[in-house]
Amino acid sequence: RFPSVEPRAGRSSLLVLAGPTAVGKGTVAAHIKATHPEIHLSVSATTRKPRPGETEGEHYFFVDDPEFDRLIASGELLEYATVHNRFRYGTPRKPIEHALSEGKTVLLEIDLQGARQVRDAEESATLVFLLPPSWDELVNRLVGRGTEDTEERARRLRTAKAELAAQTEFDYLVVNDDVASAAGEIAALARD
Ligand code: 5GP
Repeated sequence: RFPSVEPRAGRSSLLVLAGPTAVGKGTVAAHIKATHPEIHLSVSATTRKPRPGETEGEHYFFVDDPEFDRLIASGELLEYATVHNRFRYGTPRKPIEHALSEGKTVLLEIDLQGARQVRDAEESATLVFLLPPSWDELVNRLVGRGTEDTEERARRLRTAKAELAAQTEFDYLVVNDDVASAAGEIAALARD
């Protein structure tokens, strides 16, 4: 368990944001980071290569497979998962413990497998599921983003279908029809 902040009624120190692929989790999390300095957005480790514009330590800690193995073996990850059957992603424990000890709320933007691990390890965590306004809108966003080829897109849509079914396991559902409103709803869960 985390050493620090006790959860109080109506407030959670550990927020987990998950949802189907392309629903806009990253955008909503970035908006919360920009508008709520009292919320610490966790930076994950990943074995995927940086995309253009991504910075080491800001978007991710980019590591190779042996280093990721080391992080697992030394217990430095709160949770980890292989996402879309390809790369590994995990949440470093240390920065979270540090932020909690400073009285901050911590926000994890992770996949469903990771969310389940955090739920099982940390019963005080609040799990938030981000929903698209509709299935068609989710497909539009995935196509519009243009970062994946056809095969990868089909794979991610299959994952998204399965992921949508998991919304019943979550504490809160937030519809991402407007980034600022969705971010506001999530940030409100962290407040007194
Ligand atoms: P991307 O490669 O597009 O940045 O992220 C792909 C997926 O990995 C997203 O669904 C994101 O939520 C998930 N992800 C990012 N960091 C972590 C993490 O630390 N743990 C887990 N389980 N999933 C993560």
